[in-house]
Amino acid sequence: MNFKVPRGTQDILPDVSWKWQRVEKIARSICDVYNYKEIRTPIFEQTELFQRTVGDTTDIVQKEMYTFTDRGDRSMTLRPEGTAPVVRSFVEHKMFGYADQPVKLYYTGPMFRYERQQAGRYRQFVQFGVESIGSADPAIDAEVIELAMNIYKKTGLSDIKLVLNSLGDKESRDAHREALIAHFSPRIEEFCSDCQNRLEKNPLRILDCKVDREHPLMTTAPSLADYLNEESSAYFEKVKNYLNIAGIEYEYDPNLVRGLDYYNHTAFEIMSTSKGFGAITTLCGGGRYNGLAEEIGGPPAPGIGFALSIERLLLALEAEGKSFTDEPSLDVYLVTLGDAAREKGFEILSKLRDNGLRSEMDYMDRKMKAQMKSADRLQANHVIVIGEDEVNENVVQLKNMADGEQKKVAVDELMGELKK
Ligand code: ATP
Ligand code: MG
Repeated sequence: MNFKVPRGTQDILPDVSWKWQRVEKIARSICDVYNYKEIRTPIFEQTELFQRTVGDTTDIVQKEMYTFTDRGDRSMTLRPEGTAPVVRSFVEHKMFGYADQPVKLYYTGPMFRYERQQAGRYRQFVQFGVESIGSADPAIDAEVIELAMNIYKKTGLSDIKLVLNSLGDKESRDAHREALIAHFSPRIEEFCSDCQNRLEKNPLRILDCKVDREHPLMTTAPSLADYLNEESSAYFEKVKNYLNIAGIEYEYDPNLVRGLDYYNHTAFEIMSTSKGFGAITTLCGGGRYNGLAEEIGGPPAPGIGFALSIERLLLALEAEGKSFTDEPSLDVYLVTLGDAAREKGFEILSKLRDNGLRSEMDYMDRKMKAQMKSADRLQANHVIVIGEDEVNENVVQLKNMADGEQKKVAVDELMGELKK
């Protein structure tokens, strides 16, 4: 038997996992500063939750969901995205009743989409996302966007841009919808079967089609911008004003259509502009979803959020040549020679760790030279050497690897010496 990791998934190996932890730590600490609290929801939900919210005509629901029937004959789906589960939880736990509104939440964890594998596109990938639910203040749109931008900046990325659009409210979208149907209907046979289905159900989706991207009718399609009603335009102006106040630059793209059905008003993406980055340049997508809570049986609760994938963030860092290189090093490596020294070493090791010092010793019964090599590889800041003489005298040889200085230290004074 020869087992392999399933197609479209990957093992995060120990020489890389620390980079993931680094990103998660940065993202969590930024959420903390913005007063967002973590929420953890299950990895699977009722299939209908995604069908209703993400939308029947989207790629996710039509082609990408991992859906299965459980032993109780219920249709379940591995979550393809995080917003619907979070809003489901918001409604179920009546968070709209919390004294402090909006309710500001973040999540991280694996998402599942049955997609064709390519660079930056996996079947299991990890999203970090934020949702602010309960406020329709345009300032919160700017807050959420700023938070997302700050995560990237804190990781060291600089070749990124924010692309912004407004999808308007229902009235604006309905007007635009009619215009789109009128535009595409006469030549709809020239489009793929998905688009033909979308025409009546959700013509906006046609603009997001990956197959018919080059069709001449795509570029001449009626723009949402021309169909925003007064209220929607005013809202969009306020969001832009808050972004200006925060000093966040953006590019307006009237053709930016987000992949999911539930968005309205503000829609945005953060993209990598690095030359080294592949064809997929979107790192993060987000937007406002004012009707979503009602859609799943809750009271009106306007929300906005975003999701980014850690895979693409790390790829973007690599493309910019800014991948993390400062893997945490070891504080102390213990070299022991002989059985008595090993026992003494084990006792000291336990104390070092009690004091929070990242430390290690040899468990392979190797010669001194091989142990020293390990200490080097692990970039130990200090090496402690214990032989028979040291055991008898109750001392150790302590070597500072930065300056090469070595001295004899009594075991009782070791901790004080290391803390200097
Ligand atoms: P795309 O147009 O690339 O398919 P999407 O619109 O499906 O993206 P969203 O649902 O908005 O993506 O998800 C938010 C973010 O999650 C994306 O911007 C991207 O960074 C990431 N993402 C989406 N799908 C994948 C995937 N299959 N593998 C890795 N990351 C992904
Ligand atoms: Mg997609």
